[in-house]
Amino acid sequence: AAHGTLLDRYSHALTGLFGPPQRALVSGSGVRVVDEDGREYVDLLAGIAVNSLGHAHPRLVAAVSEQAGRLMHVSNLFTSEPQVGLAEDLLRLSGAPAGSSVFFANSGSEANEAAFKLARRHGGEDPSGLRTRVIALEGAFHGRTMGALALTSKEAYRAPFEPLPGGVERIPGGDLDALQAALAPDAEGRTVAAVLLEPVQGEGGVHGWPAGYLAGVRAATREAGALMILDEVQSGIGRTGSWFAFQDPAVTGGDPVVPDAFTLAKGLGGGVPIGALVSVGSEVSALLRPGQHGTTFGGNPLAAAAARAVLATIEEEALLENVRRVGAALGDGLRAVDSVTEVRQYGLWLGVDLAADAVRPLPDAGPAPAVVRAALEGGWIVNATGPRTLRLAPPLILDEADARDFVAALPTILSAAGQPTENRGASL
Ligand code: PMP
Repeated sequence: AAHGTLLDRYSHALTGLFGPPQRALVSGSGVRVVDEDGREYVDLLAGIAVNSLGHAHPRLVAAVSEQAGRLMHVSNLFTSEPQVGLAEDLLRLSGAPAGSSVFFANSGSEANEAAFKLARRHGGEDPSGLRTRVIALEGAFHGRTMGALALTSKEAYRAPFEPLPGGVERIPGGDLDALQAALAPDAEGRTVAAVLLEPVQGEGGVHGWPAGYLAGVRAATREAGALMILDEVQSGIGRTGSWFAFQDPAVTGGDPVVPDAFTLAKGLGGGVPIGALVSVGSEVSALLRPGQHGTTFGGNPLAAAAARAVLATIEEEALLENVRRVGAALGDGLRAVDSVTEVRQYGLWLGVDLAADAVRPLPDAGPAPAVVRAALEGGWIVNATGPRTLRLAPPLILDEADARDFVAALPTILSAAGQPTENRGASL
């Protein structure tokens, strides 16, 4: 029989690449989860935008258990109603034109691997043979598999795994002149197959772009014959208050910016692993030919049924409106807290910058990691994307009462964050 707490057992059995887990969770309901000691937390992170409907949403539970009892199978040699229906749903909600198509994967990294292959195939169709370059942005996160890592910016993630797939260049985000320069042929005459970017950089601290930047990328890539591929893994499926961030006026600064392809994962399955690459239009859809890519599980009936339930629930419970309303209230509330210097808010997706002295005495790693730990002790799950930046990505069902309570709790959390752990109990 197993002995010890889950956290003890974890340390003896798991590779532990994220360091010790903060807590071992045993159950969840709505926006709340419970750990192995029976303590309850309000989950303002939802596994980083994964549990879009919250925990144990009855519709998701019913869809998964119904499908598990009906059919579980591979997704590559046979198809099923959930797989076809989900693809149709995604094409409808994204407004993709006829001829568009969906490839299903099992994670965000894997969806981006498919997008990378799409970029290579676009280059492969170019008669010059020189359309080999892929442009990504500084500050980008696209995943940890080798291809996705080649597109990811952080040197510390990349360095241990060189050589990574080649042909990727990085330019500063938000700078159309830098993009124009990169889109020109290089000294060897090589041109750009694709520009791949997040509509808002999530791991980068929930940083959006200046109004018009995405539209500028759209125009410039079209002009240069390069694909524009959006990574909507974190931003998609209602997170910003629109189905997809590229449709959201707060993200684009105006009209929707329709990319040539976009990737999804995280919130799509509501907690069940699934990813997708949507190819927009028949030309892009034709780039990946039969036999050129595949996966056993992508879009399998169980995961696809979960995702269909997520989409149907967002529609029927009018969750996009909830995201906009509660997100705005949460953002406004946080802006009024002392020690909060900036809040970047897109629906229920927030980057909250703290003053350098928000926690006293100042911990070595900066205020944000200490605030994350103090928040956890106070019953709130948030995370940090940098030394001074908190990130919130709660379930799309968060209500105003919980949002208000977090705003009210934050000053106490900030003052507790500077105290030694054993003294915190009293103030929290
Ligand atoms: N793209 C973006 C924008 C992400 O935020 C993430 C995950 N943080 C990924 C890709 C990778 O997704 P996964 O962890 O499911 O592979």
